[in-house]
Amino acid sequence: MSGLFSLERHRALVTGANTGIGQAIAVALAGQGARVTCAGRRSCAETLAAIASACGQADEMLIDFADPLAARDIFADAGYSLLVNNAGIIRREDAVSHSEADWDAVIDTNLKAVFFTCQAFGRELIARKQEGAIVNIASLLSFQGGIRVPGYTASKHGIAGITKLLANEWAPHGITVNAIAPGYIATNNTEALRGDPERSRQILERIPAGRWGRPEDIGGTAAYLCSPAARYVTGTVLNVDGGWLAR
Ligand code: NDP
Repeated sequence: MSGLFSLERHRALVTGANTGIGQAIAVALAGQGARVTCAGRRSCAETLAAIASACGQADEMLIDFADPLAARDIFADAGYSLLVNNAGIIRREDAVSHSEADWDAVIDTNLKAVFFTCQAFGRELIARKQEGAIVNIASLLSFQGGIRVPGYTASKHGIAGITKLLANEWAPHGITVNAIAPGYIATNNTEALRGDPERSRQILERIPAGRWGRPEDIGGTAAYLCSPAARYVTGTVLNVDGGWLAR
């Protein structure tokens, strides 16, 4: 394994690691040698099994980010140096109908929990004078408006903003803070879109790479952003979208 990309001797926490993009990120980090904690509100047994069969052991943590402060105590003396905030939800309603309850649920999980999880992690690293890396999972809707997803778009624009703010504040402490903006990735999240032939055709026509993204496409990018090769990369929102935004 090249030292440039090795994550050996690192402990990583990945949120929403039971499925989809989070699962692929956990597997990718473990593949580079990190000891990964798969954090989710449901069992991450499938991810632990995938890591066990590919490369080694991982740990599981049950945690529900509907409480934005759920992570306040989890980093104390636990030895983490890498954090990937991936857990997220979407509520599809137009702007006229979007309820306050759905707005609050999306903002709490996708933005407030991400900030306060970063805060708990950063406080611990700064106190221990330990370097580290944070990767937040943003979206094309960190750059674009989208349609019928008001709370989601606000949350993902917010992730781009706090990623840059934290990068500024914590660069002097050796903590990099970046985000990945996935394009259209084949997960549970996009099952309904992929199941609609007309919508699916429109999306595919718009993607220069000519295919849906795979969770592994995001896993590899997250592993890079956590690695020594990316120590001078901070404050970026890196789109991994098969060329969508280049169009
Ligand atoms: P999934 O719905 O498959 O995964 C979402 C993950 O977040 C699941 O593990 C889910 O757990 C977890 N999660 C949601 N709410 C909570 C909570 N309150 N506490 C703990 N975990 C929670 O979708 P994806 O893998 O596609 O999404 C992962 C991330 O990528 C999200 O942030 C999403 O916004 C982002 N993204 C995805 C894109 C795509 O095309 N797929 C495009 C752009 C961004 P559970 O299984 O229990 O619900």
